[in-house]
Amino acid sequence: MTESDFQHIVQNEHECVWNKLLGETYQMSKLAVHILPEITIRTQEGHVSKYVFASDTICIVFVKELLDDSYFTSGQSADWKAELRHELIHEYQHKTSSKVSLQGNELMKIPHLPFPGNDHGPDFYSAICECAPKLGLTPEKLLKSI
Ligand SMILES: [Zn+2]
Repeated sequence: MTESDFQHIVQNEHECVWNKLLGETYQMSKLAVHILPEITIRTQEGHVSKYVFASDTICIVFVKELLDDSYFTSGQSADWKAELRHELIHEYQHKTSSKVSLQGNELMKIPHLPFPGNDHGPDFYSAICECAPKLGLTPEKLLKSI
């Protein structure tokens, strides 16, 4: 599998999940797939998957050494899909200016909250609650898969 095949797979997934979450009213985010050597990711800051508001771009970072043909058939491929969903929820949160909901506040009360910090306040958890049914999941299940 070439890097371009791989980019294609990620692009398809981005488009598919994006359409479910934001498909009708919004402009689709750009996607940047970064395939980097492990040493670069470990030693240089900033190489993490993220949604960049300013440029409306979702960046997904992969460890070059892990990408072989077995990557997609092994359990590892769940990781990038989870990251992609996570960043798409940030995009949703930003574009829809989703309001804090009672359900979102409730979801935040679960023990060992997986995503703390400023970027993951009640509005993020409320966005999870709004996105979950669009993906056919409960908010709790979606939270576990991002
Ligand atoms: Zn986040």
